[in-house]
Amino acid sequence: MSYEVIIIGAGSMGMAAGYYLSNKGKKVLLIDAFDPPHTEGSHHGETRIIRHAYGEGENYVPLALRAQELWLALEKESNGKLFLQTGVLNVGAPDSAFIKNVIKSGETYSLPVEVLTAAEMNKRWPGFQFTDDLIGCFEKNSGVLMVEDCIRSYRELAEKNGTVLKTNTTVTSIEATESSVTVKTDCEVFTGEKLIVTAGKGTGPILSTLGLELPLQPVRKTFSWFDSDEAVYRMNQFPAFAVNYPNSDELYYGFPSIDGAGVKIGRHDEGHPVQPGEKLADFGTIPDDKQDVKGFAERFLSREMPLKYGKTCVYTNTPDSDFIIDKHPDLKNVFFACGFSGHGFKFASVVGEILSQMIMDGKTEMDISAFAIDRF
Ligand SMILES: Cc1cc2nc3c(=O)[nH]c(=O)nc-3n(C[C@H](O)[C@H](O)[C@H](O)COP(=O)(O)OP(=O)(O)OC[C@H]3O[C@@H](n4cnc5c(N)ncnc54)[C@H](O)[C@@H]3O)c2cc1C
Repeated sequence: MSYEVIIIGAGSMGMAAGYYLSNKGKKVLLIDAFDPPHTEGSHHGETRIIRHAYGEGENYVPLALRAQELWLALEKESNGKLFLQTGVLNVGAPDSAFIKNVIKSGETYSLPVEVLTAAEMNKRWPGFQFTDDLIGCFEKNSGVLMVEDCIRSYRELAEKNGTVLKTNTTVTSIEATESSVTVKTDCEVFTGEKLIVTAGKGTGPILSTLGLELPLQPVRKTFSWFDSDEAVYRMNQFPAFAVNYPNSDELYYGFPSIDGAGVKIGRHDEGHPVQPGEKLADFGTIPDDKQDVKGFAERFLSREMPLKYGKTCVYTNTPDSDFIIDKHPDLKNVFFACGFSGHGFKFASVVGEILSQMIMDGKTEMDISAFAIDRF
């Protein structure tokens, strides 16, 4: 059997693309090395933050706003709770690039961004103890996505539309001409007309079989859950947050306690480079795993907050931390989206839509020029 579109990697981006293509009546095959959602890629750990006024650059805002619309539409169609409007508090020094970008994004796109002093933040959310050198930008319309439930919803709807999903099937190589693709896996060979590669940390080795070398570096990351006072830190009482240390690249993010799980905290910068297929060292085996987040919690939240447990996960970084969304320079039927550099999940819905437009029309209505491979 031959497919109109084969998608390698049915995680965050691939599952969304599969859904939007199946909605347009395309005969789609999704292939994944595991059974998504799963814990072997970049999409586990219960929650992901979605921010609209974007500290990483204004050019992301239209994508974030379209992504938000699509998440809400998915929530409606799947009848599940995927988005929690917790609000997101962005914190940093007033002259930091991160905070300046948030304020500028808010102004340019008329987003409701409330600028607060440290004293105002600490009064409004007594769970914080920020120092006077920091200011905050509170976005009340942003919040938290339930990451595995989002992927599960796309999967169920795509399968209902007739999409075929091959789980526990690892792609080993691809051959392609301008009108056909052959995808070899550890058990079967599949053929199709067009191809999307959204294999997260596995994208580099897969595309190199088509002669394309992308500057992708998988990095081991962790996140941790803390025992926290529910009266202070529970959702509806406490926001999601991102905090950039003054005069530093150090950036931490966190979530209110959802359903009694405790506050979750992670460090965005740093991390340990790994190979795409490498098994990650367990949480706690590297000293920084615990020290970094405990230091953050004690400095800005509370000293009475014991660490419960942590997990590992993977970022796939690009040199400039911007995404890669493009097509093969010599094969107009091969598309890819990768290098989401630890801030991609919020965009999975719109990236899925963009990929579906590229397959259908060869182009997308969204501006993705910043994500082209010719920038490297
Ligand atoms: C700790 C942590 C916290 C994060 N926090 C946020 C956040 O708050 N907000 C945010 O927006 N983003 C966040 N992110 C980033 C976001 O989760 C990722 O950018 C996003 O999930 C990447 O999606 P992906 O589709 O590229 O990868 P994945 O979701 O991992 O999907 C790739 C899929 O490809 C499959 N695959 C790989 N190789 C092969 C192969 N050879 N054959 C077949 N299948 C293969 C994998 O099994 C996997 O299912 C975070 C990430 C981590 C790790």
